Amino acid sequence: TRLLTYVCPTRRHLPTNQGTGTVPEPLHKNISVDDTLNYKARPNVQTRTPWNAPIIWEGMFDPIIYDQTHVKMNTTVALTVFAVGRYLGAYLKTFLTSAEKYFMLGLPVTYFVFTDIPKDVPYIPLAHRRYMKVIYVKKHKRWQDVSMMRMKTIYEEIDVEIKYTFKYVFCFDVDQEFKGHFGSETLGESVAVIHSYFYKSPEEEFTYDRNPESQACMETGDYYYHASFFGGTWEIVKNITESCYHGIMTDKDNDVEALWHDESHLNKYFWFNKPSKLLSPEYCWDENIEDVRDIRITRLVWAPKNYEELRD
Ligand code: UDP
Ligand code: MN
Repeated sequence: TRLLTYVCPTRRHLPTNQGTGTVPEPLHKNISVDDTLNYKARPNVQTRTPWNAPIIWEGMFDPIIYDQTHVKMNTTVALTVFAVGRYLGAYLKTFLTSAEKYFMLGLPVTYFVFTDIPKDVPYIPLAHRRYMKVIYVKKHKRWQDVSMMRMKTIYEEIDVEIKYTFKYVFCFDVDQEFKGHFGSETLGESVAVIHSYFYKSPEEEFTYDRNPESQACMETGDYYYHASFFGGTWEIVKNITESCYHGIMTDKDNDVEALWHDESHLNKYFWFNKPSKLLSPEYCWDENIEDVRDIRITRLVWAPKNYEELRD
């Protein structure tokens, strides 16, 4: 994990032990802001993975400490989102407007909007140091390909532009709406969100691809991750998207397609390359789920979806 210079508030006022013969503790220590997480704040849910990555739930972090740290570090974030075909009219405005209310407030954020109809991208007033870049992409015929081929577009865009300016990249589906604080506590080297339908399910119920012909096939795994968004440093996101794309293209050569398309490949990637930070389903909730006992806040929710109207 990345170390950063951060004055630990609990240490700042400790008396120095001069005169005892021992070396006083430095007042400034190199620690990660993730060291301030309180893993005991949510006793009824899992807050750490077996490989010791945090699983972020409401109550575990102090948003002010996170934000101050990242403002000091001049953290920059690129957000990628695709709005191709009818998804543009159906979702993009709500997605962007709500992101301006809740996503990484106070940090410089650039939205990279990929679409086949740039002229229809709505005007959204953006806050200070927040920008939007609209990039033309051609529309693939099958919706499955629109979804899967995002992987290639993202790593190419990281290489031609994003890597020169942005430390972090977050890649979102457009069919969602921010409804609560979604801040710098989510930043990490490699970040995945646990699917809201499976966070309490036994592993056998995870909908991994089980076809041995597919590159995405997996028999066991850690969690079932939702491909509705993922993120990390640009280096890692480039690796994620490039690896998934290669799996997808190998499948095409072999005339197979993974059960849940890019999501199946993403799950396979995170099985071999463990994410350094996991986000709880509070970060991607379906409001149709009745059992909300563990959900203290919904930060991003699934937008309603009419598949027949959206997909060709
Ligand atoms: N998408 C798009 N146009 C399409 C199909 C997909 O813009 O015709 C993009 C859009 O960002 C969408 C994402 O690809 O959110 C993934 O597709 P979708 O959300 O339909 O997949 P699901 O979440 O239902 O698995
Ligand atoms: Mn979606």
